[in-house]
Amino acid sequence: MLTTHLLGFPRIGSQRELKFAVERFWRGELDEAGLAATGRELRLRHWEWQRAAGLRFVSVGDFSHYDQVLDTTVLLGALPARFGFDAATLDRARYFELARGNAAQPACEMTKWFDTNYHYLKPEYDAATRFDGGPQWLLDELREAKLAGFTPKLQLVGPLTLLKLARVQGLDPLALLARLVPAYVRLLKAALAEGSDWVQLDEPIAGLDLDEKWLAAFAPVYRELAAAHPRILLATYFSGVAERAELLRTLPVAGLHLDLARAPQQLAAFADWPAGKVLSLGIVDGRNVWKTDLDAALATLTPLHSKLGDALWLAPSCSLLHVPVDLEQEDGLALALRDGLAFARQKLDELSTLSRALCLGRSVCFQALEANRAALARFRGQAGRDDAAVAARLAALPELERGLAYPERAALQRTRLQLPLLPSTTIGSFPQTGEIRAKRAAFKRGELDEAGYRAAMQAEIAHAVARQEALGLDVLVHGEAERSDMVDYFAEQLAGVAVCRHGWVQSYGSRCVKPPVIWGDVSRPRAMTVEWTRYAQSLTAKPMKGMLTGPVTLVQWAFVRDDKPRAEVACQMALALRDEVAELDAAGIAAIQIDEPAFREGLPLRRADWPAYLDWAVTAFKLSAAGSRPETQVHTHMCYSEFEDVLPAIAAMDADVITIETSRSAMTLLDAFGVFAYPNEIGPGVYDIHSPRVPPVAEMTALLEKALAVIPAERLWVNPDCGLKTRGWPETEAALANMLEAARVVRRRLAEGGAASAAPALAGAQGAACGCGHPDE
Ligand code: GLN
Ligand code: ZN
Repeated sequence: MLTTHLLGFPRIGSQRELKFAVERFWRGELDEAGLAATGRELRLRHWEWQRAAGLRFVSVGDFSHYDQVLDTTVLLGALPARFGFDAATLDRARYFELARGNAAQPACEMTKWFDTNYHYLKPEYDAATRFDGGPQWLLDELREAKLAGFTPKLQLVGPLTLLKLARVQGLDPLALLARLVPAYVRLLKAALAEGSDWVQLDEPIAGLDLDEKWLAAFAPVYRELAAAHPRILLATYFSGVAERAELLRTLPVAGLHLDLARAPQQLAAFADWPAGKVLSLGIVDGRNVWKTDLDAALATLTPLHSKLGDALWLAPSCSLLHVPVDLEQEDGLALALRDGLAFARQKLDELSTLSRALCLGRSVCFQALEANRAALARFRGQAGRDDAAVAARLAALPELERGLAYPERAALQRTRLQLPLLPSTTIGSFPQTGEIRAKRAAFKRGELDEAGYRAAMQAEIAHAVARQEALGLDVLVHGEAERSDMVDYFAEQLAGVAVCRHGWVQSYGSRCVKPPVIWGDVSRPRAMTVEWTRYAQSLTAKPMKGMLTGPVTLVQWAFVRDDKPRAEVACQMALALRDEVAELDAAGIAAIQIDEPAFREGLPLRRADWPAYLDWAVTAFKLSAAGSRPETQVHTHMCYSEFEDVLPAIAAMDADVITIETSRSAMTLLDAFGVFAYPNEIGPGVYDIHSPRVPPVAEMTALLEKALAVIPAERLWVNPDCGLKTRGWPETEAALANMLEAARVVRRRLAEGGAASAAPALAGAQGAACGCGHPDE
């Protein structure tokens, strides 16, 4: 039989067992032994599934209590020195302190793992970092697998990827290789001794834009590693590596893995693969939930199998960390939709069918192939997959521009909205209290009827409006009480989009997200937010901001159909939202915010692909926004500050107002705005909502004065840096009261024409990663 294997399996558990165990451990309700028992149970269950599907190896090293990058650096013994922990004796509680911070130290910085929605913890290295080895956890897991009778393949983040992802201070990262490689050598030798005949080293950076010196590091590093372990599989994924084929072919490793889901065309570059060396093909999409078209896969694989024989290995394109665990649990989905889906567990069976068909002939697995064909035919043929009305709208796209240029729109909006200088607003959500969640849960369980639920949410909206009026905000929001999640709320109402019941995917640590599934043409059967917004507006004479999640974000945070270009799916989404915008506008809503927190993270891994992405992303946003009249003010919100390099695209979106995160980075972003001269209005968040801390007035006054150095007063807004849903009311009211006082202070200063007061020094505070928009209730 051909070798089938995995680059990793989701560790969280089909019922999110790991999440709940870890959180109980944090609350002190579970001890270390209890936590370890949950981990063992999950590993054994997942390995058993892998064996049952006929995989040659089970994956060891894909399990983690928080993050596999943190685990790798812990294993190597390179903990951030600022914690003062000894790597060799690190216990679980301290391990979690590295991930989550403690009273004395902020957590390690968290950022996105390549272009996925998974977040890893950045290793922190400097000239003093040593890699002298850490706890034996990984070797224990190897032994555990062997003892249970499994054949393990150890996997680790490769040394070059680890270094590239680390924050290295005070020296050239590559200078650390002299210390890092010997640490890997020790690990590889230990793995070999413990019976891991193959070791997979993940080097996804091989598919990034890389300097010559990084590319040049591959050969010497892998020469040393190969001397320590004779069977290394070097895994590339998320991006094609065709232009590095020569380098990769000649590395002294025993095998190479390619991501054929992301970059099928790269196969041509590996046509002269040397005999005997393993070529592992990621033929099953590890990033998406669609069932593999087995006929198409076999058409690709058959000639390669004849040529490579046993040296051909089959795998998912990347770790299955990025897909939900088991489709079996989704009994709520329409049957024809389920026919098109495969989650992690189902993908194992696809590998096994492919391997059997190649080795034993298609007739042997005739039934499985026939079932695959029939299921895909039902899925593709289901009503709503291709909607003629959506196609007709796409063929005759409506106007992309707002009708008037920003300066003329701004004049109309000024007359209509009657706002003071430095107008104040918030980003949309107000605290999602326990009562709100309890009401929603009761409604979902059927214990509260629709009228009761509506009344309860209206009461929350009225409450939020009353508090905003009392505080004296200028542009109000309804508070999003009726939304459990900024993506799900829309996904549940759009045609062509499904929401799973258990489709959880790890986002970071114990946090999971449940991406909606965009399986068909997207349209909006009925208004989604208009009633709530109209109700909120009826309670106040102040302008009420309509609140929508933007087309790029709705696509970015979903599993997206792969038979149509992403750009086209985003356009469909944009048209659906455009109708909502138009209906809000017609209902008299004078300001509409279209949130795009995922705009920047959608950027492709390779720079060369950026223009095409930015082009469709900007188009999609504008298509939605242009559903409004020029006198209606369009806002957008993005919750990060590193978009120096995409500012022209953000300006091209032509929102009247953009609110952004800047408070945590002490407004460094403003330097970029100074250089670029952003043409429309900006609300640089003046306080960090990720912390319960109530910032004093002077701190926010200072930030506003700083902003005024690069943004003219007529175009500056005052707002927090993100939505307030994760906060409690007391700190929210206190912080907003201070924020409004800061606005008054600066307005007075401007009216008196005085000079800006000296700004107190601001620490660039490090906050927890922003989990906004994605609660995991
Ligand atoms: N309007 C949303 C909110 O306030 C925006 C959230 C986000 O940017 N992620 O919650
Ligand atoms: Zn935000």
